[in-house]
Amino acid sequence: MDDAVITVLREHEEVGIDIPSDGEMRRDEMVEYFAERIRGFKFYGPVRVWGNHFFRKPAVVNKLSYIEPIVVDEYLFARRHTLRPIIKVTITGPYTIADWSFNEYYESKEELTFELAGIVNTELRKLEEVGATYVQVDEPALTTHASEMEWAVQAINKAVEGVNVKVGLHVCYSNYMLLKPYFDILNVTQYALEFANRGFRDLEIVKGLSKELGFGVIDVHNKAVEEPEHVAKAILKAMEYVNPEYLYINPDCGLKLLPRDIAKAKLRAMVEGVKIVRRELSKRGLTQIPLHTKV
Ligand SMILES: [Zn+2]
Repeated sequence: MDDAVITVLREHEEVGIDIPSDGEMRRDEMVEYFAERIRGFKFYGPVRVWGNHFFRKPAVVNKLSYIEPIVVDEYLFARRHTLRPIIKVTITGPYTIADWSFNEYYESKEELTFELAGIVNTELRKLEEVGATYVQVDEPALTTHASEMEWAVQAINKAVEGVNVKVGLHVCYSNYMLLKPYFDILNVTQYALEFANRGFRDLEIVKGLSKELGFGVIDVHNKAVEEPEHVAKAILKAMEYVNPEYLYINPDCGLKLLPRDIAKAKLRAMVEGVKIVRRELSKRGLTQIPLHTKV
């Protein structure tokens, strides 16, 4: 796993990503990994999720408690092995962990989610303590039950309370119209959203966004490698909707399910696309716009 992380970091650096990550090489699955490291969960066995894909759906069978740091070692290892000043560390959010688990202990899903929010908060504070500067909370389930969003958003705010680092919130393959009303309510610095897979439709939902946008320009569900010109065009279009200084450029979602050579080629195309935009901005005298690339 250490070797795999080092390889991923080198590849991110080699193609020119500004903010790399460890590629979540150590994580089998984004909820399982956390459930295995929080006391109170139990695994009965695999559950079919889609097609022939299975996942070991965790069950909450006892009061949950934080035993020890979950991803702090991951972060420290990655930091030791990259020269980049910032690396992104991801953590699955409380609502998604609750939504993808069986609840056999708490009175309600809401109560379970808030318990998990406290645990996530402890972990985020530990990450801050050891020097992490950029964390991303992954909440792919957030908009899947519209009637629960009101309290789910409050649970995320509890999870990030008192955490003084850049916090991105990643929500993908979702109805962003449901997320939009909460843009100003969620106490996060950045929204990392997927736009390539939806053909860059729905961009109007980020119009006037007063926070950073992690703009997804790479479709992770398509093996065809994007053309850099296509990426550049999408970025220039996004600049008509959000303050260009708030823009970060990233793939739609994790690249982990793609063959390694394709994932790398896609990241390279993304960085090349950003370079085209930087040249264009420079022609317009807008050299102060950083357009950070990240994974
Ligand atoms: Zn995603």
